[in-house]
Amino acid sequence: QLKPIQVKLVLLGEAAVGKSSLVLRFVNNEFIDNKEPTIGAAFLTQKCKLLDKIIKFEIWDTAGQERFHSLAPMYYRNAQAAVVAYDITKAASLDKAKSWVKELQRQANPNIIIALVGNKLDLEDQRQVPKEEAQLFANEAGLLFTEASAKSGEFVMEVFTEIAKKIPLDSLSSARS
Ligand code: GDP
Repeated sequence: QLKPIQVKLVLLGEAAVGKSSLVLRFVNNEFIDNKEPTIGAAFLTQKCKLLDKIIKFEIWDTAGQERFHSLAPMYYRNAQAAVVAYDITKAASLDKAKSWVKELQRQANPNIIIALVGNKLDLEDQRQVPKEEAQLFANEAGLLFTEASAKSGEFVMEVFTEIAKKIPLDSLSSARS
């Protein structure tokens, strides 16, 4: 029996890009249209099985609390992974995502695994952010990168399995499980 490796993962990004929806898709495999915004931070766990390890994600959805910017470090402090999301139909949301990435790279755990996620891939006809632009930024900044849709479910699992693959087997956090 493999011991799960616990991984604290934080979600960051502009409001309404679909952070809660991505988590809901990953954890419950469901999507709720016009979902009421989460009030207060939500905490969920989900296991992800790979060939040689079980990762137990402890997911912190900041649910807009990060607007009070001084609260943000409380969420990403000690995080081993971060999903920084933007909405492919809103150019400004990529700018916001970039500023979160820069803040994480300055202030968070230096080994943090950061995944940039362009959500709402189902709204291709309203796209404002070219995939290449986000991919280029991700490459330069050393991030994982995926476009996904919480609504259709496309590529949502991939976001988390790609992160899971990057977690070292001897991750210190396994001692706590
Ligand atoms: P958050 O504020 O970043 O947590 O965003 P939410 O998860 O609350 O989603 C904001 C809005 O976008 C809601 O109305 C969702 O139903 C919608 N939404 C989230 N993900 C998607 C998606 O992949 N495609 C589409 N079309 N809508 C989405």
